Amino acid sequence: MRNVKGSILSNFVSPFFILLFNILSNNSLRRIESLEIPNSELIIVPYLCAMTFKNVKYILTDIEGTTTSVKFVYDVLFPYFREHIGELRSMVALDEVQRAFKQTVDLSQSLESRKLQSVDDIINILYRWSQEDRKITPLKTVQGLLWEKGYMNGEIKGHVYPEVADALKKWQKSGLSLGVFSSGSIAAQKLIFGYSEAGDLTPFFAHYFDTTTGGKRETETYTKIADELALSPSEVLFLSDITEELEAAQTAGMQTVQLVRPGTESNWPQTVADFTEIEIN
Ligand SMILES: [Mg+2]
Repeated sequence: MRNVKGSILSNFVSPFFILLFNILSNNSLRRIESLEIPNSELIIVPYLCAMTFKNVKYILTDIEGTTTSVKFVYDVLFPYFREHIGELRSMVALDEVQRAFKQTVDLSQSLESRKLQSVDDIINILYRWSQEDRKITPLKTVQGLLWEKGYMNGEIKGHVYPEVADALKKWQKSGLSLGVFSSGSIAAQKLIFGYSEAGDLTPFFAHYFDTTTGGKRETETYTKIADELALSPSEVLFLSDITEELEAAQTAGMQTVQLVRPGTESNWPQTVADFTEIEIN
């Protein structure tokens, strides 16, 4: 026999404290799903609420898992690159391609002791490195070139979650400045937002930061960004799906909120399901 009294008590007490916490922390409750009682047991369905942030002058957003589905990179960008890699043969006259090919030859020798003899050899190894998701400079270069072509001829549209464009518009209209911080290169960031499913979103962003400023999990990177913006870190609200990044930003003094998109585990004190739940006061 279950201890029915204990079960009811614990199921009542924990939601009570969650409610109390939200009221005390001044979060307006957006939605609380009803309690269901199958098999005589109380089940608490997760709830989400709007979060209010004060004294924010700048919103700094991550891309993958925040404005954009993580799947976009793996389901759209990477396959596009592999399908179109043969087009590099007709691009060998470009300085960037020549430089990337030379780097590929050198890296193949130093990393794998393999001597590449032809353009086909170079393309084959770049194809394999792409399958292995290697973070190698010449691979990044040629990926960027083919993606740029794809975006510009309309074959690729940058994924953004449906509410993102309206939220950016609303925040900008209210006088906030907006910026991007992503591990993808600044050129790649501008392509995603410049050719997004919601149109050209680049006019909303005043700054773009990538890992040339510093690592996303390092506190000093966020200090540097606030310095570059000439703001106190506490005036910046950082949006990300990754706890380690939020932690680094918070340690630098920034305000933080985790985007819990489908597939993301909620593991930060301030969480929202999408941009509509972020309120700036
Ligand atoms: Mg992310």
